[in-house]
Amino acid sequence: MSNENNRSLDSARDDQKPVNLLASVSDTSTESEFFSPMPAGYKKGKTRYCFVMGTVMSGLGKGIFSSCLALLCQNKRLKVAPIKLEGYLNIDSGTLNPFRHGEVFVLDDGMECDMDLGTYERMLDQDLSRANFATSGQIFSSILHKERHGDYLGRDVQMIPHVTGEVKLKLRQLATESDADIVFVEIGGTVGDLENAYYIEATRELAYEEGPNSSCFVALTYILEPKTLGEQKSKAAQLGIKQLMQCGIQPDIIACRAAHPATEKVRQKISVYSNVPFERVISLPDSASIYMIPAMLRDAGLDFEILRLLRIEDRISLRHERKAWGRWCDFTDKIDAQKYKITIGITGKYTAVRDSYASIINALEHAGIALACDVNIKWIETTAITDENAAQHLADVDGIIVPGGFGTRGAEGKIACIKYARENNLPYLGLCFGFQMAVIEFARNVCGLTQANSTEIEPDCPEPVIDPLPEQKKIEGLGGNMRLGGRDIELKTQTLAWELFGKTNSVRMRFRHRYEVDPRYIERLEKAGLVFSGKAPNQPIMQILELPSHPYFCGTQAHPCLTSRPLKPQPMFVGLVAAAMQKRYPDKKLPDCIKAVRKICNRTD
Ligand code: GLN
Repeated sequence: MSNENNRSLDSARDDQKPVNLLASVSDTSTESEFFSPMPAGYKKGKTRYCFVMGTVMSGLGKGIFSSCLALLCQNKRLKVAPIKLEGYLNIDSGTLNPFRHGEVFVLDDGMECDMDLGTYERMLDQDLSRANFATSGQIFSSILHKERHGDYLGRDVQMIPHVTGEVKLKLRQLATESDADIVFVEIGGTVGDLENAYYIEATRELAYEEGPNSSCFVALTYILEPKTLGEQKSKAAQLGIKQLMQCGIQPDIIACRAAHPATEKVRQKISVYSNVPFERVISLPDSASIYMIPAMLRDAGLDFEILRLLRIEDRISLRHERKAWGRWCDFTDKIDAQKYKITIGITGKYTAVRDSYASIINALEHAGIALACDVNIKWIETTAITDENAAQHLADVDGIIVPGGFGTRGAEGKIACIKYARENNLPYLGLCFGFQMAVIEFARNVCGLTQANSTEIEPDCPEPVIDPLPEQKKIEGLGGNMRLGGRDIELKTQTLAWELFGKTNSVRMRFRHRYEVDPRYIERLEKAGLVFSGKAPNQPIMQILELPSHPYFCGTQAHPCLTSRPLKPQPMFVGLVAAAMQKRYPDKKLPDCIKAVRKICNRTD
């Protein structure tokens, strides 16, 4: 970017200079038209804000973009805190159908949220909380609660300033709690939607109140490339940006998403129409791996543009960045250097929508990259699978995963797949529902409890080996009544799980379930050879199972995929991929799964 542009932009920003504006807006009395509640301890100027919004269409990868940009800043030793603002009226994502919305991601504090939070956690290797996620439902519910409580002092409660004030409060609360240098705010949906209009207005107000150089606005847009024309067209993008400017927001950066790199001509056109310097209109073509996007943004110089716009160059450490970037590149270099190839079958109800299993796909990818193995996924629809034809359906897979799920559809087919895996030494990993199905299969076919089932599938089942948790039995109705969030798991020594997790006594994983192994059956299952190697401390809730006689057969009531990170692959997934590799390449003398996990997960023992 030229100095010329720098100067003109800076002087434009300096013109805004509101004198002690924040002091006046934090006035929440009836006398003033200003209304902007401030959290206690808020330090103006400490935290800067980067707002990311989309134009033209949804699904541009705002979350991926925002998390990659945050990663580049984090690499420079800046403290970053992301937040996603959702337009919908649900309080959380717990009741959303993954078929329509992608997987429900669960945070350590039990918040059920959008899968974008998973992208942030993975990219930043950072645990997030409910402070990092807001929905319109939460915002309005808080407003209505305050209204009933008489907090608005006799005023009529309005979209502006009260609802926008609530949004600003949420953003400043995150800034205060996290003490972040930059809060990255991703606004769900597209500019022009009714649902997110008040979020966009709130960001405009916040940027104004915080003053010059406090915030920057990034607009993601989409460049059309109709096949019939064979060239890129920028009109839709221009109109989308115009719409943003009509909201009183001047973007600082425009990222052009497109199937191919945006041409110089297109970028110039967008620059002319938007007052955004050409250098800050960047091209962001589709990428084979999302892990390559940080390099794309870095090559476009976006990391330093942000620092300049927010005037925080003096807070960074280049030494820290050199090391962090080196580690990241060591990881991305491995992406295309895979020597092996295996196929993992995933039995899934929502087989048509990959987003419903985003974390599992990511966890397999992390494990595969670490083991130099390309993990191909075969989606297995189980409704037609029986004991008789399971071999046929599983002939070409090197391992299987039965993932989380609800309800009866396809459950018998899943049990048939598990039976086949157990009897044929096929590596198996059961996740939550897959753990419960493995218990049912073992109870029926090894313990002789032929009528064993889960009461979720068969409410009057005579042998309910899987039954609601005692704490759940008391709660009626759907929604918000599951055992949710991070829990410690006590590991049994000298077991596979204990080995995989580095011979530690306890490990933490995230849960989202309503049913569990009925404690009355534990002894019987264990006597027949099933080992419960992980359980809840001080409670008879079984959380990890394994079969010592099998090369790799394990399951967990938790969702280990939620905590797999690119540079820290999850041990149960690394174990599965390693075991599948051994099966696929018996002559290659590959290390057994425990040794592979030990090496990858940096165990020193
Ligand atoms: N339906 C099962 C339960 O509620 C499993 C849940 C899941 O797989 N997330 O316990």
